[in-house]
Amino acid sequence: MAAKRQVTVIPGDGVGPEVVRAAQQILEAAGAQIEWEECAAGESVFLKGLSSGVPQETIDSIARTRCVLKGPLGTPVGYGEKSANVTLRKLFETFGNIRPVRELPGIVTPYTGRGVDFVVVRENVEDLYAGIEHAQTAGVMQCLKLISRKGCEKIARLAFEFARAEGRKSVACATKSNIMKMTEGLLKRTFEAIAPEYPEIEAWHIIIDNAAHQMVKQPEQFDVVVTTNMNGDIISDLASGLVGGLGFAPSANLGNGVAIFEAVHGSAPKYAGKNVINPTALVLSAVMMLRYLGDFTAAAAVENAVLVTLAEGRAMTQDVVRLLAEKPDDLEPCSTTAFTEAVIANLGKVSETVKVRDHKPIRMPEISTEPEFVKGVSSRDIGADIFVQANTDPVTLGDSLTALAEGSPLKLKMISNRGTRVYPPTGTSTDCIDQWRCRFILRDAAGTLQDADLLALLARIGDKYRWMHLEKLPLLDEQPGFTMAQGED
Ligand code: NAP
Repeated sequence: MAAKRQVTVIPGDGVGPEVVRAAQQILEAAGAQIEWEECAAGESVFLKGLSSGVPQETIDSIARTRCVLKGPLGTPVGYGEKSANVTLRKLFETFGNIRPVRELPGIVTPYTGRGVDFVVVRENVEDLYAGIEHAQTAGVMQCLKLISRKGCEKIARLAFEFARAEGRKSVACATKSNIMKMTEGLLKRTFEAIAPEYPEIEAWHIIIDNAAHQMVKQPEQFDVVVTTNMNGDIISDLASGLVGGLGFAPSANLGNGVAIFEAVHGSAPKYAGKNVINPTALVLSAVMMLRYLGDFTAAAAVENAVLVTLAEGRAMTQDVVRLLAEKPDDLEPCSTTAFTEAVIANLGKVSETVKVRDHKPIRMPEISTEPEFVKGVSSRDIGADIFVQANTDPVTLGDSLTALAEGSPLKLKMISNRGTRVYPPTGTSTDCIDQWRCRFILRDAAGTLQDADLLALLARIGDKYRWMHLEKLPLLDEQPGFTMAQGED
C-alpha cells in the first residue's frame, strides 16, 4: 500500500467543519491514502486575540505538509484584522487560484444542456489585493494596484500548464488593458510573449468587461480564462452562478510547492451546525487536491460518485431542491450527512451524463527566485508627480506651484485631478477634490533627476501645502514608465 500523504486540514468556521468532515469521510471511503493534521485558523483564532487569524502551529504544519484542505474562514468586516484567507494565500505565495466551472447533472440552471465547462485561473496575490491602502486626505482614499512581470509570467504559465494537464484547447487572457495599459497591459503583453511556447493551445485576449458579458451570453466559448486578481474574483463568482452557485464551486490555490484547496463559498453562519449545507464544493475541491497529489484513481472515483449522486436526484440538499422549478410536493431536502452517505454509497459507479475528464499531472511553472528578474537596458528619472492636498482652485494652485518651482531644475508641467488635466486649464468642468497630482519635469529634457533637487522642491512646496505622495517619472529604455493624464499633451 502507498505511504500516506500528510495533509493539513483546517475545519474553519460556520459550516466549515460540516463540509470538511463530509469530504474527509468520502476521501477515506474512496481509499485515498491521507493522514490529516488538523489545525486552526480564522474566527476562533481572532477571538483568542491573534490578529493574523493564523497561529504559528498552523503555519508550521503547512510548511511541513505543503498541502491544505481548508474550510471557509469567517473574516472580520471593516477595519482591523486582515482576512485569514488572504494571509494564508500570501504567506505561502499561492499565486494561482483555479476555479473550474462545469455544468453538473441534476443541477438545473438557465444554462442546463449547453455544456458549460471552463476554468478561471485568477492571479491570487498581487493587484489591488496587495492591500496597500492609504488615506491621502480625509476624503480621498487610495489603493495601490501592483502588478509585476514575474507575477504575470507565473500566472500565464500556470494557465497554459493547466490547459495542458486537462487537455484543453484554448486560453483567453481577460484584462482591462485598454484603460490600465501599464498594470493590466503587463499581463496581456506577458501572456502574448509566452503563448508561442504552447503552440497546441489557442491563445486570445478579451477585455474583461466583455468577458463578463460573453460569459453570460455564450459561456460555452470559454475553455481556460486567465486574469488579474480582482477581475478574477468577480468573474469567477459570476461563472459559478452559471452552474448552480456557491454550493458547487470548488477551488485550488496553487503556489511553488504549496497548495490550498477550498470551496469558493464562505462560512454561511446562518446554516452553521444545522446539518443542511451542501458539501459538494468542498468535496470537489478535495478531488482537485487528490489530482494535485497524483492520486488520479481516487479523484476519478470521488468525482464520479458525486456526479452520479447529483444525477440520481434522490439525495438533494436544500439549495438543490430550491433550484428545481417543478418538484414533487413531498420532496424533502436531505441533510449534509445523508448527502455524504449517498456519495459514499455511489463510489465505484461511473457517471454516464457528465463525463470525468482525463487528467495529466500539472507541471507547475518554475520561475527564477532572483529578485532582479527584469533588467531594463537603461533607466533615468525625468521628473516626479507630487500629490498635494489643497483647498483651492486649480489655477490658483498651478500659478502658486509654478512660482515655487522658479530657480529649480524642475518645472510644473501640469496638474490633474482624479486623472484629468485641470492645469493649465482646459475649459472643461472637472469636479475637483482636494487632492491634486502635480507633475514636475526637468527643464533639461536630456537630464536626469537628482534627489537633492527633488527634495529641495518638496521642502518649498511643503512650506505652503501638505504633500502626501510622490512618484518619480522614469524613462525605461527611453520609453515613458508612466501614463499621461486625460487631456495631457
Ligand atoms: P457565504 O458564507 O458564502 O454565504 C452566502 C450564501 O451563499 C449563503 O447564505 C447561501 O445562500 C449560499 N451558500 C454558501 N455556501 C453554500 C453551500 N455550501 N451550499 C449552498 N449554498 C451556499 O458568504 P457570506 O455570508 O458573505 O460570508 C460569510 C463569512 O464567510 C464572512 O465572514 C466572509 O468573510 C467569509 N468568507 C470566507 C471565504 C473563504 O474562507 N474562502 C469565502 C467567502 C466568504 P442562501 O442564503 O441563498 O441559502
